[in-house]
Amino acid sequence: MSPTLKLDTPIQYLKGVGPIMAKRLKKLDITTLADLLYHFPHRHEDRSHIKRIANLHSGESATIIGTIISAKNIFTKRGKRIQKAVIADESGQIEATWFNQTYIIKTLQQAQRIAISGQIDTFGNKPTFVSPDFEVVKTPTDSQPAGKPHLLHTARIIPIYPETAGVSSKWLRTKIQAALSLGLPIPDWLPAEIHTQENLIGLLPAIQAIHFPPDQEALAKAKKRLAFDELFLLQLASQQRKYYWQHKKLSHPLIIDQEKVSQLINHLPFTLTAAQNQALKTILSDLKQKSPMNRLLQGDVGSGKTVVAALAMYVSYLNGFRSALMAPTEILANQHFATLKTILEPAGLKLALITSASKPTNNTPHTKYDLFVGTHALLHRELPPDIALLVVDEQHRFGVEQRAQLLKAPHTPHLLSMTATPIPRTVALTLYAELDLSVIDEMPHGRKPVKTWLVPAKKRANAYQWIADQIDQHQAQAFVVCPLIEESDADTLSQVKAAETEYEHLRTNIFPQLRLGLLHGRMKSADKAAVIAQFSQQKIDVLVSTPVIEVGIDIPNASIILIEAAERFGLAQLHQLRGRVGRGDRQSYCLMFPTADIQQDTHRLKALETNHSGFKLANIDLKLRGPGEMYGTKQHGFSRLKIASFSDQTLITATHTHAQNIIKQDPELANHPRLAAKLQSLLSKQVEPN
Ligand code: ADP
Ligand code: MG
Repeated sequence: MSPTLKLDTPIQYLKGVGPIMAKRLKKLDITTLADLLYHFPHRHEDRSHIKRIANLHSGESATIIGTIISAKNIFTKRGKRIQKAVIADESGQIEATWFNQTYIIKTLQQAQRIAISGQIDTFGNKPTFVSPDFEVVKTPTDSQPAGKPHLLHTARIIPIYPETAGVSSKWLRTKIQAALSLGLPIPDWLPAEIHTQENLIGLLPAIQAIHFPPDQEALAKAKKRLAFDELFLLQLASQQRKYYWQHKKLSHPLIIDQEKVSQLINHLPFTLTAAQNQALKTILSDLKQKSPMNRLLQGDVGSGKTVVAALAMYVSYLNGFRSALMAPTEILANQHFATLKTILEPAGLKLALITSASKPTNNTPHTKYDLFVGTHALLHRELPPDIALLVVDEQHRFGVEQRAQLLKAPHTPHLLSMTATPIPRTVALTLYAELDLSVIDEMPHGRKPVKTWLVPAKKRANAYQWIADQIDQHQAQAFVVCPLIEESDADTLSQVKAAETEYEHLRTNIFPQLRLGLLHGRMKSADKAAVIAQFSQQKIDVLVSTPVIEVGIDIPNASIILIEAAERFGLAQLHQLRGRVGRGDRQSYCLMFPTADIQQDTHRLKALETNHSGFKLANIDLKLRGPGEMYGTKQHGFSRLKIASFSDQTLITATHTHAQNIIKQDPELANHPRLAAKLQSLLSKQVEPN
């Protein structure tokens, strides 16, 4: 029994899909008919040019249409099965060969018209199509009028889709065609005036043409429309967040006691850099305002963001209010807790650590403390209402939903987000319009750039020897980062296993004389803390860890980091990893080991040898790998552009202006119900990191 099909009907009810395929499709984030229609090809292959058989050459890839002269199964002596067909057009004949697909002979009936696309090789001295795609050419009937595209896989521009196990582009083509031919209404939510001004085609024709374009021009128009949609909706969402944020009422206005702040700065064991001073100045001026701050503090690893946040939290304390700092991992929360304690406890603040591991120290923990440091466990505690400043470290590691949850509290605090991931201007403009930006673009005095080498496989043994010598002769300490197995915000079982294996290997075979430690995300918090303490007290020489531990561990004596399977990381991620060393005065080193047989990616990785600015590296990454990779793919599904590009400055500017105009006139989209519904459905799709 199948329900009447609608756009939000579960995909399993589409004819020929069923529960098993539906489960597979979930891996491609396809759960409804609409999702299937929005599963856009990542590229197209132009097979529309039909060649005459007489003009075919071995080595080329081509499409022909002809008649089947013969087709048969051949069984070789070695038990292999080969399918051979001969096809003819008015210019000549050619053979086509397939392997171990006996069933296709049933389809390839004599005198049948057939379209064939594929690679031509020489086979037994003759040009032959080898394992080509083929399709029977149906003669037009009344139900399938002439001219309608009834060929899906050959003799046209064909879509190539992102695939997953058991779901091929070929299968997707048939099902998408089936879904399109249901003729479901797809309301066009784009306001008419934008349509006209930007000269865009309608939504339904665009969706039809992105899958099955009649020609290149139609494809270009479809891409233009759908790219516009993607960037426009992102901008609309972020502009709307900006509007809502600006119209929130700040609960606890602050005044700045500049003298007290300066006193605390003078008590720091170092002088602030000019960039830190500038960022602090801007933040303090935000804190004076009557509307809530929403600022992103961006600065390379080790540039000293924490102390700036500490000073802002001190201001909240001086006004008799509390603050909270949320970090993405327990390790980081612990570290922040320790750092902030040394800076702020002497000034009179009482700090509490709140992670899922930490027990509330007594029955009335909250009002006793001035500053709460924690993981997302903070979100699940009822924090006191008089929090005037909320700091979120590594903000992009939190889901949109988690960030939104923070702001649902009835009391609106100032919000300071921090990140070491440089966000290119176009991305910031598109995804984070609600954020004001401050950049710390200067390192504390005396830091030496980390010497970085891409180590070829044949030098691995030498590199291990060199590390052992550095540890032996200079009391260096080293991190070893294991290969990234799955892109995930938490350590998976296989990730942990890989780290354990590497640890055992290094301990027994490579560094038997050294003291090794192991760190991964599935260890008990107490064990993690113990390992980090041992490393920081120099009781461990080499710390083997999973890549998830990438952010912010501050061990100034560690001066070597070895990164396995470096090609699996984005440049910005590698730069973050590298930032774990070079935090003290000694010369530090980063050794990147690519997987042994990887050649093609060395050009990209070499960028790290010469570039020491996270910003530059992020821009290179953006060009080479796209933004999804820059933040890790789990970031938020919403930001994964399918058609548009974050480097498309022109389109970003245009969509920005349109989004701004709409939000200015109709911030809550009351007069744009279809647009509001579309935005809502997109926002509800945003994935949560776990
Ligand atoms: P990040 O920006 O990566 O979060 P941190 O705030 O952890 O950087 O700072 C990195 C290290 O640099 C810390 O040990 C911190 O005490 C130190 N630091 C911060 N500012 C300065 C400065 N102006 N001069 C010297 N050291 C500093
Ligand atoms: Mg930090």
